[in-house]
Amino acid sequence: MPAQLLKGKPVADAVKEELSAKIADLSFVPGLRFVRVGEDPASMSYVRGKQKMAESIGLDAQTHELPEETTQEELLALIEELNNDDNVDGILVQLPVPDHIDDTVVLEAINPEKDVDGFHPENVGRLWTGQESLLPCTPAGLIRIMDHYELPIQGQHVVIVGRSNIVGKPAAAVFLARSATVTIAHSRTLDLPALTKQADVIVAAVGIAGFIKADMVKEGVVALDVGLTRIDGKIVGDIHPDVAEKAAYLTPMPGGTGRMTVAMLMENTYNAAVRRRG
Ligand code: NAP
Repeated sequence: MPAQLLKGKPVADAVKEELSAKIADLSFVPGLRFVRVGEDPASMSYVRGKQKMAESIGLDAQTHELPEETTQEELLALIEELNNDDNVDGILVQLPVPDHIDDTVVLEAINPEKDVDGFHPENVGRLWTGQESLLPCTPAGLIRIMDHYELPIQGQHVVIVGRSNIVGKPAAAVFLARSATVTIAHSRTLDLPALTKQADVIVAAVGIAGFIKADMVKEGVVALDVGLTRIDGKIVGDIHPDVAEKAAYLTPMPGGTGRMTVAMLMENTYNAAVRRRG
């Protein structure tokens, strides 16, 4: 029997509905600021989607669009201004930034209390040491999908393919925090299929279309597809369509994890606002 699809939309809609009600109950309107440097079409579309969702749930969302030639100093000055603006609760600098700007310096400049992407080293450290933090949105979305569809996490062997700072590593932290047994694989992993075949849950965050094939997974696996590649205008995931014949559950691509990433950004903004403003 083909896998049951773990659609992101119903989960994201539930998060949106809950947040809209909670935001309407606040005595202030939380502020979210997007900063985009340059005209990368994918970044422009991501920021538009995030801004639209933010407005739809009652946040005060604005985008700062900076030209490609913006210097690092100019970008840092804008971040400082937003850090000091009491009406701003969340700041998101859309990555990638142009090559002449060091994204590590930029991410470290954001006030950790307003770091709604959860990428600041302080939030990363808090996550790994089990303290309250703003969680990276994509990994938080994976957990929310699993919980929504009532799939077990504790004790499950979760194999994460990919070790980036924005997906693979924080995904490991959030699954570990829920008492999963976690393996992280990457491009230097020896005999990847031997590992992925042991997975109860596989997280594919590589960015190579159809990378995880049916003969790399066991029967009944839960397959969470994060990677996305655009081929002839179509979005294709890291998990090969044939995996649907073996998996018990599978996130569709598109329509799976991506929607959750945006929903979790909204939740982070709400949480950041409530924590900072008491
Ligand atoms: P990344 O920084 O390029 O990381 C890719 C990871 O895949 C690296 O750790 C790399 O290993 C590993 N890898 C590459 N080739 C491999 C191979 N042959 N075998 C095993 N591992 C391999 O990418 P990212 O930022 O994490 O993003 C990954 C994908 O997720 C991209 O397609 C991105 O567009 C997508 N994404 C989706 C969402 C969403 O909401 N759905 C959010 C963010 C990103 P090394 O570290 O050894 O190089």
